Amino acid sequence: MPEFRRDIILDEWVIIATERAKRPEMFIEEKVKIEKPSGMICPFDKGNESMTPPEILRMDKNGAIINYTNPDWQIRVVPNKFPALKPFAAPGSVLHGIYNVMDGFGLHEVIINSSEHILNLSQLSEYQLSLIADVYIRRLKEIKKDSRIESVIIMLNQGRDAGASIEHSHSQIFALPFNSPVLEKELRGTLKYYRKYKRCAVCDILSFELKENLRIIFENQYFVIMQPFASRNPFETWIIPKSHHPNFENIKEDIIPAFAQCLKIIVDFFYNDLGNPSFNYYIHTGPLHTKTDHHYHWHFELVPKLSIKAGFEIATGIDICVATPEDTAKFMKEKITKIH
Ligand SMILES: [Zn+2]
Ligand SMILES: [Zn+2]
Ligand SMILES: [Zn+2]
Repeated sequence: MPEFRRDIILDEWVIIATERAKRPEMFIEEKVKIEKPSGMICPFDKGNESMTPPEILRMDKNGAIINYTNPDWQIRVVPNKFPALKPFAAPGSVLHGIYNVMDGFGLHEVIINSSEHILNLSQLSEYQLSLIADVYIRRLKEIKKDSRIESVIIMLNQGRDAGASIEHSHSQIFALPFNSPVLEKELRGTLKYYRKYKRCAVCDILSFELKENLRIIFENQYFVIMQPFASRNPFETWIIPKSHHPNFENIKEDIIPAFAQCLKIIVDFFYNDLGNPSFNYYIHTGPLHTKTDHHYHWHFELVPKLSIKAGFEIATGIDICVATPEDTAKFMKEKITKIH
């Protein structure tokens, strides 16, 4: 029987197409890709620093913030050359006839994940990934000082099918004067759950999932890797912090390596065992200036491009997942336990 499953964070239904479900292995054959650098001059490589706008932050390979003239960098943060949003525009909307219009106010930054021309995050070590997470937190804390910014989305597109226009691995930060519709929905869904049960939905998901143990892939002292019960995409994989906190930027520095361990496990699995599909990942973190302490719980979601959203999904907003998270989580767990 196909199943409607309730997503208790977004408070909506998804369809798990159990009868049309594909076995986990079937996704590998469909997407095998050999990646090769294009050979074009790359604005993100060491030595080409002048090809990007003046930078915001430079970090060396040991995680120290260094001077803009120091050539021994590992990560750089620069404003996007073609920003979707601009920092000097004025927030606040005006009416245009029946419509609302607002200047495209916000920040759009690029994090160059490595000074080496790498195309795939799995080419970085666990430690190098922890430096990227450290940069995410530093930027969030800095952006938070601007009271006009209400929410920040940190994300990464890997591979052309995921929308990466420059092949050199990079993350992006978008800072918005309001909450994104998805964050707004998650806030509403988790608040509804909190009002009903007086508990956080994500904390409850964690304790239920750890007990049922069907969709858990890995855990360390601070984080759990799992696939969601109401999964929208085959092999959609989350990292959830075990301790309840609404905001990613407030996590303690000493747990960053545990986060990087989880990220490394996931990106290595996608590269080594799943035929290297394109993917998007993003961090869902609470609003910067509105308190959501009790009901919101930050998390990380990674969505591989293994299926196409068709007319039904676009027309209804109801996603159909053509694999069951129980099968794909089991497959992933078996692959990674061979290594860990
Ligand atoms: Zn490059
Ligand atoms: Zn929680
Ligand atoms: Zn989320």
